Amino acid sequence: MLKIYNTLTQKKEKFTPMHAKKVGMYVCGMTVYDLCHIGHARVLVAFDVMLRYLTMQGYQVNYVRNITDIDDKIIKRSRENNETMSALTQRMIAAMHDDFAQLNILPPTKEPRATGAISQMLDLIQILLDKGYAYQADNGDICYAVEKFKNYGQLAHQNLEKLRSGTRVAVDVTKKDPLDFVLWKKAKPDEPSWESPWGAGRPGWHIECSAMSMAALGEHFDIHGGGLDLVFPHHQNEIAQSEGATGSKFVNTWIHVGFVQTNHQKMSKSLGNFFTLRDVLQQYPAEVVRYFLVSSHHRSPINYSQENLQAAQSALQRLYTSLRGLVSKAPIVFVAEQFTGEYLEKFQMAMDDDFNTPDALAVLFELAREINRLRESDSQQAQHLAEYLQYLASILGILQQDPEQFLKLGVPDTTDADKINHLIAARNVARAAKNWQEADKIRDELLNLGISLEDTANGTEWRRK
Ligand SMILES: [Zn+2]
Repeated sequence: MLKIYNTLTQKKEKFTPMHAKKVGMYVCGMTVYDLCHIGHARVLVAFDVMLRYLTMQGYQVNYVRNITDIDDKIIKRSRENNETMSALTQRMIAAMHDDFAQLNILPPTKEPRATGAISQMLDLIQILLDKGYAYQADNGDICYAVEKFKNYGQLAHQNLEKLRSGTRVAVDVTKKDPLDFVLWKKAKPDEPSWESPWGAGRPGWHIECSAMSMAALGEHFDIHGGGLDLVFPHHQNEIAQSEGATGSKFVNTWIHVGFVQTNHQKMSKSLGNFFTLRDVLQQYPAEVVRYFLVSSHHRSPINYSQENLQAAQSALQRLYTSLRGLVSKAPIVFVAEQFTGEYLEKFQMAMDDDFNTPDALAVLFELAREINRLRESDSQQAQHLAEYLQYLASILGILQQDPEQFLKLGVPDTTDADKINHLIAARNVARAAKNWQEADKIRDELLNLGISLEDTANGTEWRRK
């Protein structure tokens, strides 16, 4: 029985989808003015694991992840770059898709763009005006009056007074309340705009997600999520808009993913401790980055450090080493029915507990140890368990490469591989001649190149340290 922690109730709850075997899931995606950073990657890897696990449990998941392709930052950046807004956003969307593919993040079922949903937003704003939840401010903007929505603050678990004192909103005389937010921004000269009943303008950020999620999944759906920083005000405002307009419940389960920190501080551009995914992927194989991201529970903060990335790399090497010589095919098509019993049950027990990926990884290590134990004595069972390990790992999106390929990753070119093979051959000659001094010297030379050796019954195998 799957239990999910719900930010709305602050409890782990039994997950019961609204429509038997179908799940509607909406995740707030990127604002495409710049490259994705490691924090975005964490959020999307977390939801990718949930998508894979729900699918494994027999659910048909309608996974919607939006793209914000109009906002202040995009307008500003396109001016700085002297490129059109659409050229900038197309370029960033392509880069994002490329980054996500490297991280083995599956594409969503639908990927709506804000600029493609303007008419749904206008409809929603009109309803909010008609129902008295919204007003036109003196400067022409349409704003949401938070005081009109009686449950405002329920997701953040704070009352209006607390929220007001906690917000860092610039004093804005046009709003009736500092917590009120803009639904429709009146056009400024030289800014992109759309026609509306209230004059030319463009949408506020929050209304986008209410409009796009309800258009794709209906007025009431199962799961809505994003990074922890979206709880307030973004998701709170989505609830106010959607429930204000429909008069009924918007989302059953709210899921939020914790921050990525550096030296236990939040990553931010101003602190200079900020890493784009591209920076990180230049230093580490994508699968190592993904392993690092799934090695903590999605709600806890994680610390981005060289040590933690290196630990992820050696953990993955241990898992791949157990698969070595037993599986090699990629891509893999699994027959799930072949994998039953103890390991599956433990894996599911971990994942059923609010998608506990660290506990699920522990099951993979248990399997790896059993494979290593049986490798010599029962190669047939070892091979079955190796396939079993790859099957369970596919739910976390790891261990899907040829082990040889992974273990040799990082070796820059074939010249290097040739050199390594040559040194290994020379060492084997020295060993055959019982010239241990020479053999050790060559082993050390390889170690200096970052290559470690393992002598097996089938000869000497090498891998990157
Ligand atoms: Zn959103």
